[in-house]
Amino acid sequence: MTVKKLKRVCLLICFLCLGFGASAQQVLQPAITNTDWSKPFPSFQIAGNLYYVGTYELACYLITTPKGHILINTGLADSAPLIKANIEALGFKFADVRTLLTTQAHFDHMGAMAAIKKQTGAKMMVDYGDAPIVADGGRSDYSTGGSISNYAPVQVDRILHNGDIIKLGDMQLVMLHHPGHTKGSCSFLFKVKDQKRSYRVLIANMPTIVTDKKFSEIPGYPNIAKDYAYTLDAMKKLSFDIWLASHASQFDLQGKHKPGSGYNPDAFFGRKDYDAEMDDLQGKFLKKVKE
Ligand SMILES: [Zn+2]
Repeated sequence: MTVKKLKRVCLLICFLCLGFGASAQQVLQPAITNTDWSKPFPSFQIAGNLYYVGTYELACYLITTPKGHILINTGLADSAPLIKANIEALGFKFADVRTLLTTQAHFDHMGAMAAIKKQTGAKMMVDYGDAPIVADGGRSDYSTGGSISNYAPVQVDRILHNGDIIKLGDMQLVMLHHPGHTKGSCSFLFKVKDQKRSYRVLIANMPTIVTDKKFSEIPGYPNIAKDYAYTLDAMKKLSFDIWLASHASQFDLQGKHKPGSGYNPDAFFGRKDYDAEMDDLQGKFLKKVKE
């Protein structure tokens, strides 16, 4: 083969690589109409070593330990700098984030995950039901999926199952498999403490129904009704002091905490509101099953 020919072949290969690379990386985030999703919100201490670092509506949580930090959820793709600034405003190092978790594999909680993983080198741990969806950037999700990723795909470092424990430093989080909203939606249960007492915290993925289709018309998720029924039942039985969720409005963050107000973990005690919301979701589920 002549040098000239070799050059031509290399050029062709590079061109193909670029072409494939581009299609594998193609990401199209759905249009966002709710400006609260990307609106900044000042980070604050919820209880002990648990902090809110998300946007006005898309909840992200930082759990700090002497061995590095755990970040749960990221908001939209363009929220990465906002989350980083929120972490730094609390006096923590963004580079110390070691573990990444998500309550569900939708773009409004995973949008900035790939960028944050790249910047911090943290390990991504995902419920087994959502692991393939995280890895393909939402393409294989039964409700929001399609031919193009709606967020940048993220390499999964550890697959989690119901009851699995995520350990970092002196922290232990229990992952609870709560499928339905996505196949691998999940909640996290753990303890934090301050000088006064310890708190049992639930970061819940509330089982809202995301599909307009009848449950019987979703071939990509034949167990959907069974999964929602399981999740509703399991979630009602949980015990906790502090209740938080994937969306700030679900646990009324804005009503419970005004920016700049002092440390007040008691404001997030929400059993009554949680039970009322679970009843409402149970009603919506039963109505949907009858469609
Ligand atoms: Zn969702």
